[in-house]
Amino acid sequence: MKSLPPLPTNIALTLYNTEARQKVPLKPIKDRHVKMYTCGPTVYNFAHIGNFRTYVFEDILRRTIKFFGFQITQVMNLTDIDDKTIRGALEKNIPLNQFTQTFKDAFFADLKTLSIEPVENYPAATDYIDEMIKIVQKLLEKGVAYQGTDGSIYFSIKHFPRYGCLSHLHLDELKVGASERVLCDEYDKENVADFVLWKAADEKRDGNIFWESPFGRGRPGWHIECSAMAMKLLGETIDIHVGGIDNMFPHHENEIAQCEAYSNKTFANLWMHSEHLIVDNKKMSKSLGNFFTLRDLLNKGFTGTQVRYMLMQTHYKTQLNFTFSGLESINVTLMRLQDFIFRLQQIHHTVSDRVIEPIIERAYIAFATSMADDLNISAALAALFELVREVNALCDAGSVGKEQAGLVLLLLKRMNEVLGVLSFESPHEEIPVDLQEALAKRIEARKQKNWALADALRDQISSRGYVIEDSAEGARLKKVQP
Ligand SMILES: [Zn+2]
Repeated sequence: MKSLPPLPTNIALTLYNTEARQKVPLKPIKDRHVKMYTCGPTVYNFAHIGNFRTYVFEDILRRTIKFFGFQITQVMNLTDIDDKTIRGALEKNIPLNQFTQTFKDAFFADLKTLSIEPVENYPAATDYIDEMIKIVQKLLEKGVAYQGTDGSIYFSIKHFPRYGCLSHLHLDELKVGASERVLCDEYDKENVADFVLWKAADEKRDGNIFWESPFGRGRPGWHIECSAMAMKLLGETIDIHVGGIDNMFPHHENEIAQCEAYSNKTFANLWMHSEHLIVDNKKMSKSLGNFFTLRDLLNKGFTGTQVRYMLMQTHYKTQLNFTFSGLESINVTLMRLQDFIFRLQQIHHTVSDRVIEPIIERAYIAFATSMADDLNISAALAALFELVREVNALCDAGSVGKEQAGLVLLLLKRMNEVLGVLSFESPHEEIPVDLQEALAKRIEARKQKNWALADALRDQISSRGYVIEDSAEGARLKKVQP
C-alpha cells in the first residue's frame, strides 16, 4: 500500500432536506458540479458565535461535498441593506458603504481565523439593485405583487398556493387576508402576512438612503436581496440552499415564493438548516451577559482552531451548548492530535510489518461513511480517535516505520480536508535528510553487528549537533540544545 485505497463506490453523500423532511442523496442538476447558496451576514456589527456555528457548518458541508469528488460553486451574500445597516450608518452620519465596510472586513478576517474556506462569490446587496427591481417588476406584471397604500410593494401570498411548503405551514389554517401585510423583514409564524418586496422611501426611517425604481424611490426588502443574487449568480434552480434555522421562516419561505412565482421553476432542490447555539444552556443574549463574538473569545486567549472544533463537533441538526469548560477541554484534544502527528513525522526507520494497512483502510471508510450520512461528525471524529489509539499502540510495539507513518499522515491530511483543524507543519526544526539516512544505516549496521560502522555513523551524527535517542519507535534524532 503506497497510497490511500479508493473509497468503496457504494458510499454516497446523503443530506437532510428540510423541505422533504428526509435524507436524500446529493444529485446535482449538472454533472457533479454543486451550486450552493448560503445566506451570509448582515454587516452592521461583528458576527457572534451563533452566526459562526452556521458558517462553520456550511464550511464542513462544502468541504464534505468536495471530499466526495464534487465540484462546487458557492455564493454567500453580504446583507448591506436592511434596517440595521441603515440605522447604523445614520447614527454615525457616514455613507452606508463606509459603515458596512468595517464589518465586511471584520467578517473576512474572522472566516480566516476559523479556517473557513473562501467561497467563490461574496455578492453585496448594494451591487444587485437592478436585478431586484427586475424581479419585483415581473411579479407586479404577473399580479403576484401589488403596491400597498403606503407606496411599498408587497408579495401576495394567497397567489402562491405553495406558500408554507418549507416550514410546513398550512395557509388555510392561518388568518391570511389581502389587507394584512408586514413591512418588517423579520417576523414569526404567528404573523404570516404579505411581505414587503420594495420599501417606499421613508426619510424618517432611512434618511437620504434610497434607490430610484419604476415604482418610486425606496429600497429592497431583505428577502428579495438573496433571491436576486442567488438567481443571478447560480441560475433559477440551484442545488442546495443553506442557512441557520431562524432563516427558515419567514426568509427562506419568502425566497421560494418570490423566485418560483418569478421563474415558474423550483428554486432550490435541497434545503438545509443548522440548529441554534445556546450558551450554558441559555439563549445567548446581551442582557444575560453571555453574548460572544469571535473576537471576545480570542481576547480570552482561545484560538480560532479551538473555536472551530467547538462549533463543528456537534451535529448541525442538534442544538449546540457552548461552554467555556468545553472550549478549554478542546485544547487537550487538539494537543493529543498534534502530538500524534509529530510522533509520526519523527519516524525515519523502516519496518516490514503491514499490520497497519487494514487499520488505515477501516478508519478511512468509517470516516467517509459517517460524513456521507448527513455529516455525522461525531462518528467521523470517533473514527479519527480510534485510528490514533490503534496506531499509537502499533508505534509502541515497533510496528510502524517511515512508510507506514507516511500512510497514516496521508489519511490524516485527507480527513483534515473536511475537518480543517490539524496542522502538519512541524513545530520543530526539520532533521537533515543525510542525517536521517545515516541513522537508518546505523540501525542496519547494528543489526549486522558491524560495530565499527555503527560508531562511525554515530560520530558523524553527533559532529552535526544531534544525539541518537531511543524511543518506542526505535532510535530517533534530537538536536542538542547549544
Ligand atoms: Zn438569505
